[in-house]
Amino acid sequence: MTSSSTPRTRFAPSPSGYLHIGGARTALFNFLYARRHGGVFILRVEDTDRERSTDASIAAILESLAWLDIAWDEGPFFQSQRTAVYVAEAERLLREGRAYPCFCTTEELEAKRARALSEGRKPVYDGTCRDRVATPGDAAHPHTVRFRGPKDGETPIDDLVKGRVVFQNAELDDLIILRSDRTPTYNFCVVVDDAEMRVTHVLRGDDHLANTPRQILLYRALGYGLPAFGHVPLILGPDKARLSKRHGAMAVTAYRDLGFLPEGVVNYLARLGWSHGDQEIFTRDELVAAFTVEAIGKSAGVFDVEKMRWVNWSHQKALTPDALVRAARPHLAAAGLPVPGDDAWLAKALATLQERAQTLVELVESGRYYFTDDVVIDPAAAAKFLTPAAAEPLRSVRNACAALGGWTMEALTAAFDDVLAKHGLKLGKVAQPVRVAVTGGTASPGIFEVLEILGRERTVARLDAALARIS
Ligand code: GLU
Repeated sequence: MTSSSTPRTRFAPSPSGYLHIGGARTALFNFLYARRHGGVFILRVEDTDRERSTDASIAAILESLAWLDIAWDEGPFFQSQRTAVYVAEAERLLREGRAYPCFCTTEELEAKRARALSEGRKPVYDGTCRDRVATPGDAAHPHTVRFRGPKDGETPIDDLVKGRVVFQNAELDDLIILRSDRTPTYNFCVVVDDAEMRVTHVLRGDDHLANTPRQILLYRALGYGLPAFGHVPLILGPDKARLSKRHGAMAVTAYRDLGFLPEGVVNYLARLGWSHGDQEIFTRDELVAAFTVEAIGKSAGVFDVEKMRWVNWSHQKALTPDALVRAARPHLAAAGLPVPGDDAWLAKALATLQERAQTLVELVESGRYYFTDDVVIDPAAAAKFLTPAAAEPLRSVRNACAALGGWTMEALTAAFDDVLAKHGLKLGKVAQPVRVAVTGGTASPGIFEVLEILGRERTVARLDAALARIS
Protein backbone atom coordinates (compact mmCIF):
# COMPACT_ATOMS: atom_id res chain seq x y z
CA MET A 1 0.00 0.00 0.00
CA THR A 2 1.16 3.50 -0.70
CA SER A 3 0.16 6.43 1.43
CA SER A 4 -1.53 9.41 -0.18
CA SER A 5 1.69 11.41 0.18
CA THR A 6 3.69 8.97 -1.93
CA PRO A 7 4.47 10.63 -5.25
CA ARG A 8 3.20 8.78 -8.27
CA THR A 9 4.49 9.76 -11.70
CA ARG A 10 3.90 8.31 -15.11
CA PHE A 11 5.26 8.16 -18.62
CA ALA A 12 2.48 8.00 -21.17
CA PRO A 13 3.88 7.46 -24.68
CA SER A 14 1.70 7.28 -27.77
CA PRO A 15 3.04 4.26 -29.69
CA SER A 16 3.15 5.72 -33.18
CA GLY A 17 6.93 5.46 -33.66
CA TYR A 18 10.18 4.78 -31.86
CA LEU A 19 11.06 6.25 -28.47
CA HIS A 20 12.80 9.48 -29.34
CA ILE A 21 15.28 11.49 -27.34
CA GLY A 22 12.62 13.91 -26.03
CA GLY A 23 10.31 11.11 -24.90
CA ALA A 24 13.18 9.33 -23.20
CA ARG A 25 14.00 12.50 -21.27
CA THR A 26 10.36 12.86 -20.16
CA ALA A 27 10.38 9.24 -18.99
CA LEU A 28 13.67 9.82 -17.19
CA PHE A 29 12.48 12.90 -15.33
CA ASN A 30 9.36 11.09 -14.14
CA PHE A 31 11.43 8.07 -13.16
CA LEU A 32 13.98 10.18 -11.27
CA TYR A 33 11.28 12.12 -9.47
CA ALA A 34 9.62 8.92 -8.28
CA ARG A 35 12.93 7.36 -7.21
CA ARG A 36 14.08 10.53 -5.44
CA HIS A 37 10.95 10.63 -3.31
CA GLY A 38 10.44 6.92 -2.77
CA GLY A 39 7.46 7.06 -5.09
CA VAL A 40 5.95 4.97 -7.85
CA PHE A 41 6.65 5.30 -11.58
CA ILE A 42 3.90 4.11 -13.92
CA LEU A 43 4.08 3.24 -17.61
CA ARG A 44 0.91 3.83 -19.59
CA VAL A 45 0.73 3.23 -23.30
CA GLU A 46 -1.67 5.70 -24.92
CA ASP A 47 -2.80 3.57 -27.81
CA THR A 48 -6.37 4.81 -28.24
CA ASP A 49 -5.53 6.00 -31.73
CA ARG A 50 -5.71 2.55 -33.35
CA GLU A 51 -4.79 3.91 -36.77
CA ARG A 52 -1.45 5.25 -35.66
CA SER A 53 -0.52 2.82 -32.87
CA THR A 54 1.54 -0.22 -33.78
CA ASP A 55 2.80 -3.25 -31.90
CA ALA A 56 6.25 -2.62 -33.34
CA SER A 57 6.25 0.80 -31.77
CA ILE A 58 5.14 -0.55 -28.40
CA ALA A 59 7.94 -3.11 -28.56
CA ALA A 60 10.48 -0.41 -29.52
CA ILE A 61 9.42 1.83 -26.64
CA LEU A 62 9.63 -1.00 -24.09
CA GLU A 63 13.00 -2.09 -25.49
CA SER A 64 14.39 1.45 -25.30
CA LEU A 65 13.23 1.95 -21.72
CA ALA A 66 14.75 -1.39 -20.76
CA TRP A 67 18.05 -0.44 -22.41
CA LEU A 68 18.12 2.84 -20.50
CA ASP A 69 17.17 0.91 -17.34
CA ILE A 70 14.20 3.18 -16.74
CA ALA A 71 12.13 0.59 -14.92
CA TRP A 72 8.47 1.13 -14.14
CA ASP A 73 6.80 0.00 -10.94
CA GLU A 74 3.26 -0.31 -12.31
CA GLY A 75 2.09 -1.16 -15.79
CA PRO A 76 2.44 -1.16 -18.64
CA PHE A 77 -1.22 -0.20 -18.87
CA PHE A 78 -2.82 0.06 -22.28
CA GLN A 79 -5.55 2.59 -22.91
CA SER A 80 -6.98 0.42 -25.67
CA GLN A 81 -7.93 -2.11 -22.99
CA ARG A 82 -9.66 0.44 -20.79
CA THR A 83 -12.38 1.79 -23.08
CA ALA A 84 -15.18 0.66 -20.76
CA VAL A 85 -13.74 2.79 -17.93
CA TYR A 86 -13.71 5.93 -20.07
CA VAL A 87 -17.19 5.33 -21.49
CA ALA A 88 -18.58 4.83 -17.97
CA GLU A 89 -17.09 8.12 -16.82
CA ALA A 90 -18.40 9.93 -19.90
CA GLU A 91 -21.87 8.55 -19.19
CA ARG A 92 -21.63 9.73 -15.61
CA LEU A 93 -20.90 13.27 -16.86
CA LEU A 94 -23.89 13.00 -19.19
CA ARG A 95 -26.18 11.95 -16.33
CA GLU A 96 -24.89 14.79 -14.19
CA GLY A 97 -25.49 17.31 -16.96
CA ARG A 98 -21.77 18.06 -17.22
CA ALA A 99 -21.69 16.70 -20.73
CA TYR A 100 -24.23 16.76 -23.54
CA PRO A 101 -24.90 14.90 -26.77
CA CYS A 102 -23.93 16.84 -29.88
CA PHE A 103 -25.69 16.08 -33.17
CA CYS A 104 -23.74 18.48 -35.34
CA THR A 105 -22.37 16.62 -38.33
CA THR A 106 -18.75 16.71 -39.39
CA GLU A 107 -19.77 18.76 -42.45
CA GLU A 108 -21.62 21.30 -40.32
CA LEU A 109 -18.69 21.61 -37.95
CA GLU A 110 -16.28 22.01 -40.85
CA ALA A 111 -18.40 24.78 -42.35
CA LYS A 112 -18.59 26.61 -39.00
CA ARG A 113 -14.89 26.25 -38.59
CA ALA A 114 -14.14 27.62 -42.03
CA ARG A 115 -16.51 30.56 -41.44
CA ALA A 116 -14.89 31.40 -38.09
CA LEU A 117 -11.44 31.32 -39.65
CA SER A 118 -12.49 33.47 -42.60
CA GLU A 119 -13.98 36.03 -40.17
CA GLY A 120 -10.77 36.02 -38.16
CA ARG A 121 -12.37 34.31 -35.14
CA LYS A 122 -10.93 31.43 -33.15
CA PRO A 123 -12.72 28.29 -34.39
CA VAL A 124 -14.23 27.18 -31.07
CA TYR A 125 -17.41 25.12 -31.08
CA ASP A 126 -20.38 27.52 -31.18
CA GLY A 127 -22.49 25.59 -28.66
CA THR A 128 -25.39 24.70 -31.01
CA CYS A 129 -26.24 21.54 -29.04
CA ARG A 130 -25.19 22.82 -25.63
CA ASP A 131 -28.65 24.03 -24.62
CA ARG A 132 -30.65 21.76 -26.85
CA VAL A 133 -33.60 20.13 -25.13
CA ALA A 134 -33.32 16.35 -25.21
CA THR A 135 -35.94 14.39 -27.15
CA PRO A 136 -36.84 10.71 -26.69
CA GLY A 137 -35.37 9.68 -30.06
CA ASP A 138 -31.95 11.24 -29.39
CA ALA A 139 -30.07 8.09 -28.51
CA ALA A 140 -30.91 6.55 -31.89
CA HIS A 141 -29.24 9.37 -33.82
CA PRO A 142 -25.50 9.46 -34.29
CA HIS A 143 -23.94 11.91 -31.88
CA THR A 144 -20.76 12.75 -30.09
CA VAL A 145 -20.60 13.60 -26.39
CA ARG A 146 -19.23 17.00 -25.48
CA PHE A 147 -18.00 18.26 -22.17
CA ARG A 148 -20.00 21.22 -20.88
CA GLY A 149 -17.19 23.60 -19.99
CA PRO A 150 -17.53 26.94 -18.19
CA LYS A 151 -17.91 29.86 -20.63
CA ASP A 152 -16.42 32.51 -18.41
CA GLY A 153 -13.76 32.84 -15.76
CA GLU A 154 -10.24 31.56 -16.08
CA THR A 155 -8.22 28.44 -15.38
CA PRO A 156 -4.80 29.07 -13.90
CA ILE A 157 -2.06 26.45 -13.82
CA ASP A 158 0.62 26.72 -11.17
CA ASP A 159 3.16 24.92 -13.27
CA LEU A 160 6.15 23.44 -11.47
CA VAL A 161 8.44 24.56 -14.29
CA LYS A 162 6.75 27.55 -15.90
CA GLY A 163 5.14 29.16 -12.87
CA ARG A 164 1.60 30.52 -13.13
CA VAL A 165 0.00 30.30 -16.57
CA VAL A 166 -3.59 31.54 -16.92
CA PHE A 167 -6.06 30.43 -19.60
CA GLN A 168 -9.39 32.13 -20.34
CA ASN A 169 -12.23 29.61 -20.26
CA ALA A 170 -14.00 31.41 -23.11
CA GLU A 171 -11.12 30.31 -25.35
CA LEU A 172 -11.63 26.64 -24.56
CA ASP A 173 -13.99 24.54 -26.64
CA ASP A 174 -16.62 22.22 -25.34
CA LEU A 175 -14.38 19.27 -25.92
CA ILE A 176 -15.66 16.09 -27.57
CA ILE A 177 -15.08 13.31 -25.02
CA LEU A 178 -16.79 10.46 -26.90
CA ARG A 179 -16.76 10.25 -30.67
CA SER A 180 -19.87 9.18 -32.56
CA ASP A 181 -18.54 5.60 -32.58
CA ARG A 182 -18.35 5.89 -28.76
CA THR A 183 -14.58 5.78 -28.64
CA PRO A 184 -13.15 8.18 -26.07
CA THR A 185 -10.83 11.01 -27.04
CA TYR A 186 -7.29 11.65 -25.97
CA ASN A 187 -7.67 14.42 -23.34
CA PHE A 188 -10.50 12.58 -21.64
CA CYS A 189 -8.62 9.27 -21.36
CA VAL A 190 -5.57 11.03 -19.94
CA VAL A 191 -7.62 12.65 -17.18
CA VAL A 192 -9.55 9.51 -16.26
CA ASP A 193 -6.32 7.50 -16.18
CA ASP A 194 -4.24 9.99 -14.25
CA ALA A 195 -7.00 10.20 -11.66
CA GLU A 196 -7.64 6.48 -11.45
CA MET A 197 -3.91 5.69 -11.35
CA ARG A 198 -3.60 8.30 -8.57
CA VAL A 199 -0.88 10.19 -10.41
CA THR A 200 0.36 13.05 -8.21
CA HIS A 201 2.83 14.70 -10.60
CA VAL A 202 2.43 15.05 -14.35
CA LEU A 203 5.78 15.95 -15.89
CA ARG A 204 5.55 16.18 -19.66
CA GLY A 205 6.69 18.15 -22.69
CA ASP A 206 5.41 21.71 -22.93
CA ASP A 207 3.76 20.85 -26.24
CA HIS A 208 1.01 19.57 -23.92
CA LEU A 209 0.58 22.83 -22.02
CA ALA A 210 -2.45 23.90 -24.08
CA ASN A 211 -4.20 20.63 -23.17
CA THR A 212 -3.77 21.20 -19.47
CA PRO A 213 -6.54 23.79 -18.82
CA ARG A 214 -9.01 21.53 -20.65
CA GLN A 215 -7.85 18.61 -18.57
CA ILE A 216 -8.12 20.63 -15.34
CA LEU A 217 -11.74 21.49 -16.16
CA LEU A 218 -12.43 17.80 -16.73
CA TYR A 219 -10.80 16.88 -13.41
CA ARG A 220 -13.10 19.34 -11.64
CA ALA A 221 -16.22 18.15 -13.45
CA LEU A 222 -15.39 14.54 -12.68
CA GLY A 223 -14.79 15.37 -9.03
CA TYR A 224 -11.15 14.28 -9.04
CA GLY A 225 -8.32 15.94 -7.13
CA LEU A 226 -5.74 17.69 -9.29
CA PRO A 227 -2.17 16.47 -9.72
CA ALA A 228 0.71 18.91 -9.91
CA PHE A 229 1.80 19.75 -13.46
CA GLY A 230 5.29 20.46 -14.75
CA HIS A 231 5.78 21.23 -18.43
CA VAL A 232 9.32 20.70 -19.62
CA PRO A 233 10.62 22.80 -22.54
CA LEU A 234 11.21 20.85 -25.72
CA ILE A 235 14.64 19.90 -26.98
CA LEU A 236 16.00 22.01 -29.81
CA GLY A 237 18.50 21.17 -32.52
CA PRO A 238 21.76 23.14 -32.83
CA ASP A 239 19.94 25.55 -35.18
CA LYS A 240 17.43 26.28 -32.37
CA ALA A 241 14.58 24.65 -34.30
CA ARG A 242 12.58 21.89 -32.64
CA LEU A 243 14.66 18.70 -32.64
CA SER A 244 13.77 16.59 -35.64
CA LYS A 245 15.14 13.89 -37.88
CA ARG A 246 17.12 16.33 -39.94
CA HIS A 247 19.28 16.99 -36.85
CA GLY A 248 20.42 13.37 -36.90
CA ALA A 249 19.28 10.26 -35.12
CA MET A 250 16.12 10.66 -33.06
CA ALA A 251 15.53 7.11 -31.83
CA VAL A 252 17.09 6.15 -28.53
CA THR A 253 18.10 2.77 -29.94
CA ALA A 254 20.08 4.50 -32.70
CA TYR A 255 22.41 5.78 -29.98
CA ARG A 256 22.79 2.26 -28.63
CA ASP A 257 23.78 1.10 -32.11
CA LEU A 258 26.19 4.04 -32.45
CA GLY A 259 28.01 2.69 -29.40
CA PHE A 260 26.70 4.91 -26.62
CA LEU A 261 26.34 3.49 -23.14
CA PRO A 262 22.91 3.70 -21.52
CA GLU A 263 24.48 5.52 -18.55
CA GLY A 264 26.02 8.03 -20.96
CA VAL A 265 22.69 8.69 -22.66
CA VAL A 266 20.84 8.91 -19.34
CA ASN A 267 23.42 11.35 -17.95
CA TYR A 268 23.33 13.49 -21.08
CA LEU A 269 19.52 13.58 -21.25
CA ALA A 270 19.22 14.43 -17.56
CA ARG A 271 21.49 17.42 -18.05
CA LEU A 272 19.61 18.56 -21.14
CA GLY A 273 17.23 20.98 -19.49
CA TRP A 274 18.07 20.24 -15.88
CA SER A 275 21.12 21.24 -13.89
CA HIS A 276 22.77 20.74 -10.55
CA GLY A 277 25.39 23.42 -10.05
CA ASP A 278 28.29 22.87 -12.42
CA GLN A 279 28.21 19.10 -12.21
CA GLU A 280 28.18 17.41 -15.62
CA ILE A 281 28.89 13.77 -14.88
CA PHE A 282 26.43 11.82 -12.76
CA THR A 283 26.04 8.19 -11.87
CA ARG A 284 22.47 7.01 -11.69
CA ASP A 285 22.51 7.16 -7.88
CA GLU A 286 23.79 10.72 -8.03
CA LEU A 287 20.99 11.66 -10.41
CA VAL A 288 18.39 10.14 -8.13
CA ALA A 289 19.85 11.97 -5.13
CA ALA A 290 20.14 15.33 -6.90
CA PHE A 291 17.02 15.48 -9.08
CA THR A 292 14.51 18.24 -8.35
CA VAL A 293 11.80 19.66 -10.57
CA GLU A 294 12.77 23.18 -9.44
CA ALA A 295 16.09 22.79 -11.23
CA ILE A 296 14.46 22.05 -14.60
CA GLY A 297 15.32 25.02 -16.81
CA LYS A 298 12.70 27.35 -18.24
CA SER A 299 14.43 27.54 -21.59
CA ALA A 300 14.79 24.72 -24.07
CA GLY A 301 17.86 22.49 -24.03
CA VAL A 302 19.90 22.36 -27.23
CA PHE A 303 20.92 18.90 -28.37
CA ASP A 304 24.68 18.70 -28.81
CA VAL A 305 25.98 15.36 -29.96
CA GLU A 306 29.61 16.36 -29.29
CA LYS A 307 28.79 16.95 -25.65
CA MET A 308 26.89 13.69 -25.53
CA ARG A 309 30.01 11.94 -26.84
CA TRP A 310 32.13 13.57 -24.14
CA VAL A 311 29.65 12.57 -21.42
CA ASN A 312 29.64 9.05 -22.83
CA TRP A 313 33.43 8.94 -22.80
CA SER A 314 33.44 9.92 -19.12
CA HIS A 315 31.27 6.90 -18.34
CA GLN A 316 33.08 4.59 -20.75
CA LYS A 317 36.48 5.23 -19.21
CA ALA A 318 35.05 4.52 -15.76
CA LEU A 319 33.70 1.06 -16.68
CA THR A 320 35.16 -1.90 -14.81
CA PRO A 321 36.95 -4.46 -17.02
CA ASP A 322 34.00 -6.85 -16.75
CA ALA A 323 31.46 -4.18 -17.61
CA LEU A 324 33.53 -3.05 -20.57
CA VAL A 325 33.70 -6.63 -21.89
CA ARG A 326 29.93 -6.99 -21.57
CA ALA A 327 29.29 -3.64 -23.24
CA ALA A 328 31.76 -4.15 -26.10
CA ARG A 329 30.84 -7.72 -27.04
CA PRO A 330 27.74 -6.89 -29.12
CA HIS A 331 29.68 -4.20 -30.95
CA LEU A 332 32.43 -6.65 -31.91
CA ALA A 333 29.78 -8.87 -33.41
CA ALA A 334 28.09 -5.90 -35.13
CA ALA A 335 31.44 -4.90 -36.65
CA GLY A 336 31.73 -8.41 -38.09
CA LEU A 337 34.69 -9.23 -35.84
CA PRO A 338 35.11 -12.56 -34.08
CA VAL A 339 34.15 -12.32 -30.42
CA PRO A 340 37.04 -13.77 -28.40
CA GLY A 341 36.08 -16.47 -25.92
CA ASP A 342 38.83 -15.50 -23.46
CA ASP A 343 37.27 -12.75 -21.32
CA ALA A 344 40.50 -12.03 -19.43
CA TRP A 345 42.35 -11.44 -22.70
CA LEU A 346 39.48 -9.38 -24.10
CA ALA A 347 39.35 -7.26 -20.95
CA LYS A 348 43.07 -6.55 -21.26
CA ALA A 349 42.83 -5.62 -24.92
CA LEU A 350 39.79 -3.36 -24.36
CA ALA A 351 41.45 -1.66 -21.38
CA THR A 352 44.21 -0.34 -23.66
CA LEU A 353 41.57 1.29 -25.90
CA GLN A 354 39.17 2.43 -23.20
CA GLU A 355 40.23 6.05 -22.77
CA ARG A 356 41.11 6.56 -26.41
CA ALA A 357 37.60 6.35 -27.85
CA GLN A 358 34.35 8.14 -27.02
CA THR A 359 31.96 5.37 -27.97
CA LEU A 360 32.05 1.58 -28.04
CA VAL A 361 31.85 1.56 -31.82
CA GLU A 362 34.95 3.75 -32.03
CA LEU A 363 36.66 1.69 -29.37
CA VAL A 364 36.12 -1.57 -31.22
CA GLU A 365 37.06 0.02 -34.53
CA SER A 366 40.26 1.49 -33.09
CA GLY A 367 41.35 -1.96 -31.92
CA ARG A 368 40.42 -4.08 -34.97
CA TYR A 369 43.98 -5.42 -35.17
CA TYR A 370 43.51 -7.20 -31.84
CA PHE A 371 40.46 -9.09 -33.00
CA THR A 372 41.34 -10.03 -36.57
CA ASP A 373 44.53 -10.96 -38.38
CA ASP A 374 43.12 -9.44 -41.49
CA VAL A 375 45.00 -6.19 -40.85
CA VAL A 376 44.66 -3.59 -43.56
CA ILE A 377 47.81 -1.47 -43.72
CA ASP A 378 47.16 2.21 -44.33
CA PRO A 379 49.06 2.99 -47.59
CA ALA A 380 50.25 6.39 -46.36
CA ALA A 381 51.60 4.85 -43.16
CA ALA A 382 53.32 2.12 -45.15
CA ALA A 383 54.90 4.63 -47.54
CA LYS A 384 56.29 6.56 -44.60
CA PHE A 385 57.38 3.80 -42.24
CA LEU A 386 57.66 0.47 -44.07
CA THR A 387 60.65 1.64 -46.10
CA PRO A 388 63.81 -0.24 -47.11
CA ALA A 389 65.65 1.63 -44.33
CA ALA A 390 63.25 0.13 -41.77
CA ALA A 391 63.84 -3.42 -42.94
CA GLU A 392 66.96 -4.16 -40.87
CA PRO A 393 65.65 -2.90 -37.52
CA LEU A 394 62.30 -4.62 -38.21
CA ARG A 395 64.12 -7.89 -38.93
CA SER A 396 66.05 -7.52 -35.66
CA VAL A 397 62.81 -6.93 -33.75
CA ARG A 398 61.22 -9.91 -35.51
CA ASN A 399 64.12 -12.21 -34.58
CA ALA A 400 64.29 -10.91 -31.01
CA CYS A 401 60.54 -11.52 -30.63
CA ALA A 402 60.83 -15.02 -32.04
CA ALA A 403 63.60 -15.85 -29.59
CA LEU A 404 62.21 -14.06 -26.54
CA GLY A 405 62.08 -16.13 -23.34
CA GLY A 406 58.95 -14.80 -21.62
CA TRP A 407 56.34 -12.75 -23.50
CA THR A 408 55.98 -9.89 -21.01
CA MET A 409 56.19 -6.09 -21.21
CA GLU A 410 59.52 -6.23 -19.37
CA ALA A 411 61.02 -8.83 -21.72
CA LEU A 412 59.76 -6.91 -24.77
CA THR A 413 61.18 -3.63 -23.45
CA ALA A 414 64.57 -5.26 -22.90
CA ALA A 415 64.54 -6.88 -26.36
CA PHE A 416 63.76 -3.53 -28.02
CA ASP A 417 66.55 -1.86 -26.02
CA ASP A 418 69.01 -4.40 -27.48
CA VAL A 419 67.78 -3.72 -31.01
CA LEU A 420 68.00 0.06 -30.54
CA ALA A 421 71.55 -0.23 -29.21
CA LYS A 422 72.58 -2.54 -32.08
CA HIS A 423 71.29 -0.13 -34.77
CA GLY A 424 72.03 3.10 -32.90
CA LEU A 425 68.37 4.17 -33.22
CA LYS A 426 65.86 5.94 -30.96
CA LEU A 427 62.70 4.08 -29.94
CA GLY A 428 60.44 6.08 -32.26
CA LYS A 429 62.41 5.01 -35.33
CA VAL A 430 61.72 1.37 -34.52
CA ALA A 431 58.42 1.56 -32.72
CA GLN A 432 56.60 3.31 -35.57
CA PRO A 433 57.43 0.74 -38.30
CA VAL A 434 56.53 -2.01 -35.83
CA ARG A 435 53.25 -0.24 -35.03
CA VAL A 436 52.37 0.06 -38.72
CA ALA A 437 53.30 -3.59 -39.25
CA VAL A 438 51.14 -4.94 -36.42
CA THR A 439 48.21 -2.49 -36.29
CA GLY A 440 48.11 -1.16 -39.85
CA GLY A 441 48.28 2.47 -38.72
CA THR A 442 50.35 5.04 -36.89
CA ALA A 443 48.22 5.50 -33.76
CA SER A 444 47.70 2.85 -31.13
CA PRO A 445 48.18 2.27 -27.43
CA GLY A 446 51.79 1.79 -26.24
CA ILE A 447 53.61 -0.57 -28.60
CA PHE A 448 54.74 -2.95 -25.83
CA GLU A 449 51.18 -3.23 -24.52
CA VAL A 450 49.94 -3.99 -28.02
CA LEU A 451 52.58 -6.64 -28.67
CA GLU A 452 52.02 -8.26 -25.28
CA ILE A 453 48.32 -8.57 -25.99
CA LEU A 454 48.82 -9.82 -29.56
CA GLY A 455 51.19 -12.55 -28.38
CA ARG A 456 54.32 -13.87 -30.00
CA GLU A 457 52.88 -15.82 -32.87
CA ARG A 458 50.69 -13.05 -34.25
CA THR A 459 53.40 -10.42 -33.74
CA VAL A 460 56.03 -12.43 -35.61
CA ALA A 461 53.62 -13.27 -38.43
CA ARG A 462 52.76 -9.58 -38.92
CA LEU A 463 56.42 -8.52 -38.84
CA ASP A 464 57.15 -11.20 -41.46
CA ALA A 465 54.33 -9.89 -43.62
CA ALA A 466 55.67 -6.33 -43.32
CA LEU A 467 59.17 -7.46 -44.24
CA ALA A 468 57.81 -9.30 -47.27
CA ARG A 469 55.96 -6.17 -48.27
CA ILE A 470 59.12 -4.05 -48.08
CA SER A 471 61.28 -6.37 -50.17
N1 GLU B 1 0.60 10.43 -25.00
C1 GLU B 1 1.19 11.73 -24.98
C2 GLU B 1 2.39 11.78 -25.89
O1 GLU B 1 2.94 10.78 -26.21
C3 GLU B 1 1.61 12.18 -23.59
C4 GLU B 1 0.48 12.61 -22.76
C5 GLU B 1 0.82 13.09 -21.38
O2 GLU B 1 1.98 12.95 -20.94
O3 GLU B 1 -0.08 13.58 -20.73
O4 GLU B 1 2.81 12.83 -26.29
